[in-house]
Amino acid sequence: LGTQPEAPHKIGLFGGTFNPVHIGHLRPCEEIREIFGLSSVIFIPAAMPPHKSRQIIPARHRFEMVKRAINDNPFFELSDVELRREGSSYSYETIDYFSARYDRAAELYFIMGRDAFRDMHTWKNYPDIFSLCNFIIMNRPVADDAGRQQTIPPDIADLFSPQEEGLYRHCSGRLLCFCEVSLIEVSSTDVRRRIEEGKTIRYIVPEGVSGYITQHNLFSP
Ligand code: ATP
Repeated sequence: LGTQPEAPHKIGLFGGTFNPVHIGHLRPCEEIREIFGLSSVIFIPAAMPPHKSRQIIPARHRFEMVKRAINDNPFFELSDVELRREGSSYSYETIDYFSARYDRAAELYFIMGRDAFRDMHTWKNYPDIFSLCNFIIMNRPVADDAGRQQTIPPDIADLFSPQEEGLYRHCSGRLLCFCEVSLIEVSSTDVRRRIEEGKTIRYIVPEGVSGYITQHNLFSP
């Protein structure tokens, strides 16, 4: 009794462009936090996302909006690690940074949508990145059937062995988990389009975020 080592904390890492952050980011992460028993989820805005270039507003605005979006959730945190790094933002380096920071004190779970998972072959150090930490792939409303399935791309399928429904173990021992969250049909593109068209974004982004957008006149044509 009393000699059992404490289970390490589980920490979620949630990278994104957040241009701007919306409820489709927040609610699924809150559900994942609950399902996986994460002690916190760290939101990590990308400085210069290597795969996106259209209409991306300065990082400090995207950072400030995430800050306002999560400030009433004690389990959500914000990191500027990608903003402090020069050049492009690579998730590999970000995971590496948090692995070193937490060492054995925490198990890391990188959270992403299924669309991002499907694009991962374009990421730096793919597929080695799966040996760095655990991954949680959440569903997201998509137009095509492929996006609804819990599939591992064929080129890397050999690296994973199925454990149970939706759960795979990478050859490094790390986990890849597909997780079903509430489907929220919102994207940043959608939010930006509404603003451009002069439409309301109330209830699609938190109040503090829409206030910030109005105050700084962001995304308006
Ligand atoms: P854009 O429309 O500009 O491409 P986005 O809405 O996809 O942006 P990102 O900041 O690129 O937002 O997304 C960060 C992460 O959040 C990605 O892993 C993405 O898959 C996930 N995500 C975004 N929107 C949703 C949503 N509605 N439901 C579940 N996951 C989402």
